[in-house]
Amino acid sequence: MQNEFSPALLVLRDPLGSGSGESGSRFDAADPDALVVSALDLGVTRGDGIFETITVVNGMPQALDAHLHRFARSAGMLDLPTPAHETWKKGVFAAVDSRPTVDEAFVKLVYTRGIEGSGIPTGWVYLQQSPDFTAERTEGISVVLLDRGYSSSVQRTSPWLLQGAKTLSYAINKAAAREAQRRGADDVIFVSSDGYLLEGPTATIVLKLDDRFVTPRTESGILPGTTQQSIFEIAAVNGYRTAYEMLTPADLRRAESSWLVSSVRNAAPIREIDGEARPFDAGLTEAINAGLAARTI
Ligand code: PLP
Repeated sequence: MQNEFSPALLVLRDPLGSGSGESGSRFDAADPDALVVSALDLGVTRGDGIFETITVVNGMPQALDAHLHRFARSAGMLDLPTPAHETWKKGVFAAVDSRPTVDEAFVKLVYTRGIEGSGIPTGWVYLQQSPDFTAERTEGISVVLLDRGYSSSVQRTSPWLLQGAKTLSYAINKAAAREAQRRGADDVIFVSSDGYLLEGPTATIVLKLDDRFVTPRTESGILPGTTQQSIFEIAAVNGYRTAYEMLTPADLRRAESSWLVSSVRNAAPIREIDGEARPFDAGLTEAINAGLAARTI
């Protein structure tokens, strides 16, 4: 039950490992209500940092290595020191092991540029029980299409815009979610200025189209989704073809089913696009979510 689970916080010590590599840094438990970040931290003042959110099902962090690889990829895109893989992995397990096992929790990893001028990053790991997403997973969500204002070539032409990195600068993503609410919808699918489907503010779009599973190409300036990757693995094992393609709103509208997929909420089927009802396969959605929950890596 929600109120019996107290969140856990671990703080990264010696982030640069005192020159001794991976083994030098470690995570220490801290009071989740304590102030652990300086008011001068660039993560706070500029949103200059990265994060990951990892689902924990029955005490098992899901797709952990995929999340840690993406964490390192985001760090590289922001020219941050590479986060020590094993240290962060131990931090995740230490957080999970510090609390009773629940059906669904999530761990958030945060890594910032630290206090301006210090050159020392700040990091922490936070564990919390997940909200109940049963309604979204079974009844579906309504979405609106919103123009992201960038072309699908943005990653190549303007890498400094950091499209495709999981940065702490999510104010735009949150604003888009509020715009969806203003329009009476639950969520958003961003479309590029040249007319291609991109992603949601916190999720990847997956379509079942012509009996295949398809998702937009990551070169279009979107985050490579760990949940989407797991779904493609589950689909392939079950005999489906999978593909990464440049997709348009017309593809979305003719899809047999479509989902916004992400860690924690998992696969949320899309039941309405810009006010128009869309079909989705409830049985297939249930099988996908069962497959995701059963992941052991
Ligand atoms: N795209 C964006 C912009 C996201 O923020 C997220 C997750 O938060 C995703 C896609 C889905 O990624 P994952 O499935 O790894 O959670």
